[in-house]
Amino acid sequence: MSEKLLMGNEAIALGAIRAGVNIVTGYPGTPSTEVLETVARNNPGDIYIEWSVNEKSAMEVAAGAAYSGARTMVTMKQVGLNVASDPLMSLAYIGVKGGMVVLVADDPGPFSSQTEQDTRHFARYSNLPVLDPSTPEEAYEMIQYAFELSEMVELPVFLRPTTRICHSCATIDVDDKRLEHKIEGFVKDPRWVIFPSLAYKKHIHIEELQHKLSDIFSSISFNKVEGKDVKTGVAASGVAYSYVVEAIEKLNANVKLFKVGTPYPLPQETASCFLEGLDEVLVFEELDPVVEEEMAMLCASKQQKTRILGKKTGHLPFAGEYTFELVCEALAKYLNIKTEKIENTLAPELPVRQPVLCAGCPHRASFYAVKMAMKGQKAVFTGDIGCYTLGNAKPLDMVDTCLCMGAGITVAQGIKRAQPDAKHIAFIGDSTFFHTGIPGIVNAVYNNTDITVVILDNSTTAMTGHQPHPGTGKTMMNNISEKIDIYTMVKACGVGHIVKGNPLDFGSAVEIIKKAAEYQGPSAVIFEAPCIALFKPPVKYTIKDNCKNCKKCITDIGCPAISFIDGKVNIEPSLCYGCGLCTNVCPFNAIGGEENE
Ligand code: SF4
Ligand code: SF4
Repeated sequence: MSEKLLMGNEAIALGAIRAGVNIVTGYPGTPSTEVLETVARNNPGDIYIEWSVNEKSAMEVAAGAAYSGARTMVTMKQVGLNVASDPLMSLAYIGVKGGMVVLVADDPGPFSSQTEQDTRHFARYSNLPVLDPSTPEEAYEMIQYAFELSEMVELPVFLRPTTRICHSCATIDVDDKRLEHKIEGFVKDPRWVIFPSLAYKKHIHIEELQHKLSDIFSSISFNKVEGKDVKTGVAASGVAYSYVVEAIEKLNANVKLFKVGTPYPLPQETASCFLEGLDEVLVFEELDPVVEEEMAMLCASKQQKTRILGKKTGHLPFAGEYTFELVCEALAKYLNIKTEKIENTLAPELPVRQPVLCAGCPHRASFYAVKMAMKGQKAVFTGDIGCYTLGNAKPLDMVDTCLCMGAGITVAQGIKRAQPDAKHIAFIGDSTFFHTGIPGIVNAVYNNTDITVVILDNSTTAMTGHQPHPGTGKTMMNNISEKIDIYTMVKACGVGHIVKGNPLDFGSAVEIIKKAAEYQGPSAVIFEAPCIALFKPPVKYTIKDNCKNCKKCITDIGCPAISFIDGKVNIEPSLCYGCGLCTNVCPFNAIGGEENE
């Protein structure tokens, strides 16, 4: 044993290693990304780890290995689970042999996601058990238990931490002794082939299994009841439990407390013990009222009159992340305990800062080149998920839609069908191109839809922390693999007009876009320029004496390195990355560059 200060995601990773995980797959997405990266950093040498091209592929690779008896973990964020949901639903019927943990991090807030969706619904929908850690320490324990449980019931098991568990730190006793898990190898068996007749039998089996799981969960310490002889109860799941414990202590409240570590299936026996003698229960949980509904259904089935309160009764908010302050105030109000307003002492008010592309980001040049090329024309610009979604910010204003990964290309096709008299230009990043962009391009070619796809290739998955992808020629196993060339892929899809260019070679970039947009039929432009975090700029730029302070360099491109101070335009040297885009904007040639020493 050794004591370590760990972030929740690191605790999950070390717990998985301790449990003898053999294969880890995933697709990066905040707040889940560090789990796979921590396994990679601490790999004892025999764990196979990959960033897969998308979550569906990651789920299927992990499933194949689990069929063969390997302990596997697949990691993603909540919206990634939508992409992986097809194999997941069938896997719930087919089952696994080796323990398989589906680690899905939910993002209440949301801090970096397009939705606040709750993974526990997927657990209910697929009939797969879900564990909901309330602290990083518990996440370390739960991941190990999840592998055991998965092997016991031969089903994948969800671990669903939320942002605050993933990214907060705790001192944890880490058991350095790793469990050996031998892989048996794939054994041919009809159970691995899903047929309608088998699916029918399996459905009956998994419905029955829910009762067994509920009994198992009533016997484990992740679920527990504290306190008695009162009429009022509080149930709490996930990180909300930690806030409730603290709030009860602060308010000196006398309530019966139900810690729910397994929201689905609800441990009915433990829940029944908790409900005994209670008139009312207030349920705390982040995101949707999953435990609240399960408890209400349990009361209804037992014809018990305990009132279940929570989000549905307006006692707590549906949306947003919970905090200690929110929980404490809601509990005080509910229990009618007088308390002063609790100030959030941990997080001082910060000035509001608009999200913006980094200074020197080549995407700014790409967006600006397209904007200049399309000036005066009726055009719609569809965007996608990545740091380049920030192209929607003023003054660029170049992202008119953003739906989900890969949808920029297909949404452009839909708009084209509804509004044929405009030009339709879809932006997509290199990692997203491999993730779900390719089928959209195939669809445009197959249906001969006249759109232009602009692939913003900055040689990395920048938004989540520079993970490799098939276009980088690197893998998570420190191997160099064959780079998959985006141009060749687009050509193989049948796109008739494809041009590569450098967006920072501005004049030529504008011409490339004009020609691609004029082409009748699907066309593509691949703008290649690495993310600024990957290289050191060779040139630094400054404002020269002939500057007229017209501010065009500020109002056209919105580079955060250029500002207006004391009546003068200025380039902040510590922010400028030397991309040179501003020199193309200034009408007076008043921006100059010199070599960096
Ligand atoms: S100031 Fe000019 S050269 Fe420097 S990063 Fe901004 S646009 Fe690029
Ligand atoms: S565009 Fe040129 S002249 Fe106008 S403020 Fe910027 S540097 Fe000065």
